[in-house]
Amino acid sequence: MSAEETSKGLVVLVGGGPGDPSLITVGGVEWLTRADVVVYDNLVSPDLLGHCRDDAELIYVGKRSGQHSASQDEINRILVDKCSQGRLVVRLKGGDPFVFGRGGEEVEALQEAGLAFRVVPGVTAGIAAGAYAGIPVTDRRKASVVAFVTGHEDPYKGTSSLNWESLAWLDTVVFYMGVGNLRSIADQMMMVGRYGETPAAVIERATTPRQRTVIGTLETISDMADSSGIRPPAIIIVGDVAGMGERLDWFEQLPLFGRTVLVTRSRKQASRLSARLAEMGAEVIEAPTIDILPPESFEPMDQAIRRLEKFAWAAFTSPNGAEGFFRRLDLLGLDVRALGGVKVAAVGEATAEALRERGVRADLVPPAFTTEALGQALIGALESRKARVLLARSDLADPALTEALRQAGAKVEEVVAYRTARPAGLGEEALAALRRRGVDWITFTSSSTVENFLALAEDDQIDLSAVKPASIGPVTSRALRRHGLEPAAEAQPYTIDALADAIILAERNGE
Ligand code: SAH
Repeated sequence: MSAEETSKGLVVLVGGGPGDPSLITVGGVEWLTRADVVVYDNLVSPDLLGHCRDDAELIYVGKRSGQHSASQDEINRILVDKCSQGRLVVRLKGGDPFVFGRGGEEVEALQEAGLAFRVVPGVTAGIAAGAYAGIPVTDRRKASVVAFVTGHEDPYKGTSSLNWESLAWLDTVVFYMGVGNLRSIADQMMMVGRYGETPAAVIERATTPRQRTVIGTLETISDMADSSGIRPPAIIIVGDVAGMGERLDWFEQLPLFGRTVLVTRSRKQASRLSARLAEMGAEVIEAPTIDILPPESFEPMDQAIRRLEKFAWAAFTSPNGAEGFFRRLDLLGLDVRALGGVKVAAVGEATAEALRERGVRADLVPPAFTTEALGQALIGALESRKARVLLARSDLADPALTEALRQAGAKVEEVVAYRTARPAGLGEEALAALRRRGVDWITFTSSSTVENFLALAEDDQIDLSAVKPASIGPVTSRALRRHGLEPAAEAQPYTIDALADAIILAERNGE
């Protein structure tokens, strides 16, 4: 970076892609994670802001109900001001910043002010809409030319700067901002000679869980879009390739497309479950239902850690337990070597994975991922009946495991590695979706997610009769049944991936 850039700051125009938050570039994410200031607008996926630093200044410049969006002059001024303060500014825009994004005007303003800028391209909506609707915008047999056209100008108002005579004959014509003028656009193309039978597609909210596609011809498309109530933002694709979407569409066919799944989780976890459900087409809303807190006192765990070599086994019944234990080990100036000859047991895959991330391979993972199975396997594996076992768990952990081990003769020392608490509320997005009965599934990955979620739902008087619960395993299912809820899907084996599969299977069987 030049001296000029460091002293005066930098503005990076980043293309955020068309909606699906996975469609931003690696470079775009890197800039976002570093930004001091992020200036964003309407079409940007809110999930992308999750990449920002907690202390980043987020400035919204799009339209909000009842309020006007910031004018281009105001936006330019914000960019120049923030950058002049020596800050790293990311100007995050939907799609690509230089495709109908006024990115050119923004970098001109920066250049005039003598400020440095970069441009990170993005996946533009015109191409992404085709991709997610099964419409290749070029095709060796059908289309060698593709044009990106603004549909913002009504061809009948006589002010259009477009040359319709030549435009109408290009193989593939992709219109942005054209929904309001769809009828005049189709009429105009036919008027200058394009055949009425030419395939035409409209893709609303492309690449998002609310994507809708209508495919017809120049003659039929505006009536079809009207009767389906298609609204902006949408892309219009005219040309032979548009017809391919009837056979090649895949996104709207995904097993969970059109379904909304509420994922109950602790604040940090479960993004993997969310990602897997989203990959299968679901709209995912995360509802934090567990706050993970440090234990009231670290003393018991610290004492156990100082005498670690006395234990034959250390057993972990959750990734949080493993995390809490190893964080403490680190704070005490120790590392995995402190485990020495202590054998390590994990209740299931996720816990084993958390251990592996810290350089420890679990000596024992029971075939079924429950604490009951862990207890049995551990009893079978104890070399001496009187072996010492360390359990690092949550304050609310089920005492059955300790009891079973003690009955088998083991000397069990149970220490609190973390506490769980119920958060203050369900979160705005989850609440809104539940209130409008827009939730199809709720996933539960432990009894405490069940208890906490149901308590929070009751606080807000949420009616759950239309929602299908999905459970990670028999213990969680039992917790649901205690509250009169019958799981509509249960994972087998008891893993996150199997939980997603169980929902897909239930959907397929038309539950
Ligand atoms: N810079 C953006 C375009 C901004 S203009 C890009 O490169 O994609 C705004 C228009 O983009 C909308 O009117 C609509 O036509 C199109 N658009 C943006 N996101 C879209 C989406 N998810 N689905 C369909 N059209 C979209």
